[in-house]
Amino acid sequence: MQAEVLSVGTELLLGQTVNTDTTIVAKALSGLGIDLLYAAVVGDNVGRLEKAVWDALDRSDILITTGGLGPTGDDLTKETVAAAAGKKLVLHQPSYDRLKEYFARGGLSENQIKQAMLPEGCTVLQNDNGTAPGCAFQTAQGKIVIMLPGPPSELEPMLKNYAVPYLAKFQNAVIASHSVHVYGRGEAAVALMIDDLTQNSNPTAAPYAKEGEMFVRVTAKAANEAEADAMCAPVVEEIRRRVGSFVYGVDVDSLEELVVRELKKAGKTLATAESCTGGLLAKRITDVPGSSDVFEMGCVTYANRVKEALLGVPHETLEAHGAVSEQTARAMAEGIVRRSGADIGVGITGIAGPGGGTAEKPVGLVYIALSDGENTWVAKRQPAGRMKSREWHRHCAASKALDM
Ligand code: ATP
Ligand code: MG
Repeated sequence: MQAEVLSVGTELLLGQTVNTDTTIVAKALSGLGIDLLYAAVVGDNVGRLEKAVWDALDRSDILITTGGLGPTGDDLTKETVAAAAGKKLVLHQPSYDRLKEYFARGGLSENQIKQAMLPEGCTVLQNDNGTAPGCAFQTAQGKIVIMLPGPPSELEPMLKNYAVPYLAKFQNAVIASHSVHVYGRGEAAVALMIDDLTQNSNPTAAPYAKEGEMFVRVTAKAANEAEADAMCAPVVEEIRRRVGSFVYGVDVDSLEELVVRELKKAGKTLATAESCTGGLLAKRITDVPGSSDVFEMGCVTYANRVKEALLGVPHETLEAHGAVSEQTARAMAEGIVRRSGADIGVGITGIAGPGGGTAEKPVGLVYIALSDGENTWVAKRQPAGRMKSREWHRHCAASKALDM
């Protein structure tokens, strides 16, 4: 079945509200294995809304609208959509009684009553978090129409608890989706490695980049979840094989989540000494619930004086090589292992920018060191020529440390 979403509200077209409702509906539809073909936004205007509904009912099996179910004058979705779909609005007594109870003290005004007027013969979708109920019905041509309220806090539970079960009755396919996480290879490189796999339609494989990492989403559609999963599995394996050690996990939440999990498994602890990342690495690790089992301490040693005093970075090292150097990163990692007693120490030092770079040490240059007290490994990150933000350099440096 093919669907489309129509979000109603002039505020969306004025750029005052971000259209998160469409995302919420899109996720729910994808979970049901329903293809979303169009997602449109239309203002609070009867003529244009009517036209959009006709178009939708003409080309799609399912139309889902969000917004405009409330009591105010510009809430005209129900009247307009019902009329365009050939339905009369009638008073829905239980919704009316619910409104009466809700407004018992202030009295029920004419425009509040409007909310209890629903398409004749529809399935009423109860609003457990607001006053305007939603509804679902089929047109004479068998098209499915579902209307949901605009506020995401009302829409989301109504969708999950009432609209998805309603739609599930019509649907006999589900979608399974798995995500292969890649670090250290760009989108273009990964796309080349799996080019032939991205040409298939079921399962599909689609690479995308996000925050300095790469993901390949593998999605299959089948009669049930087990079957869809089984269709994904060989494609996931093939991607793993081709992208090799750059794959750090499948269906994991993040690099940091994986690091915490692996440290726990190994019974090892971690400590960090950060300069240019300003504690971002420690923050990302401690964002993971349960990280206290593995994370001992983190310090932000910005000044050279503190790198010496706290971490024991030799004065001569800083003099001879500078704070941003392989030698300093190494001494920071080794210093934090000694200082904390943790099994593994990380040292990060670099130039986050936008100022402070030189020809020899450009903005974005970061040294990341990892030490277990015996051996120390140092990686150098030097992004090629592109202008990136301070935030970007810091994020990527922390990611690189996690990858190590
Ligand atoms: P209400 O009963 O609150 O009036 P409603 O169904 O009439 O609900 P709207 O009047 O269209 O919904 O929107 C109410 C509020 O919901 C908007 O001010 C906005 O904050 C939020 N909202 C509406 N549509 C969207 C959307 N597509 N994405 C995110 N938020 C939305
Ligand atoms: Mg409203």
